[in-house]
Amino acid sequence: MFGVVVCPKCHRARGADLSNQTTRCAHCSHVIDLSKARVYARTDSKDKLPEAVRRMTEKLAANIEDYPAERKRPVARAPQKEKQPRKADSMNMEELRTLATELNRGKDHFDVEDVRSSLGTVSDEDVNRLIDKMLDRGVIFQPQAGWFRVV
Ligand SMILES: [Zn+2]
Repeated sequence: MFGVVVCPKCHRARGADLSNQTTRCAHCSHVIDLSKARVYARTDSKDKLPEAVRRMTEKLAANIEDYPAERKRPVARAPQKEKQPRKADSMNMEELRTLATELNRGKDHFDVEDVRSSLGTVSDEDVNRLIDKMLDRGVIFQPQAGWFRVV
């Protein structure tokens, strides 16, 4: 069985005989561990391998998401993640006020953790952006550092 793998170092596609343990990248000489490498296409025929490698090379050029997980360059952010709108940016005044009121319900104040748990899985940055936006729009105020209250 032959397959197309992508070098984790230089991110170029290459064909490999999958019965081998490793294959050496022709571009950067990195030894690719075939037992760990993701195989993007498989073929029984060695003759079909160059075509499969060529297609993978085209895909890599067109779509950054097909790069292997080992890729660590700062530009490696998957475009899909960027498409998700930031919670804070997508909320209008009405929604901000509703959320703040909800957070403050039955309580004297709420804090960063309350905001975080209300949003589900979001980054610290997102939580802070949302709080900043609510403060900025005058939806909430900060009676004490880290405490927030609906205006
Ligand atoms: Zn390489």
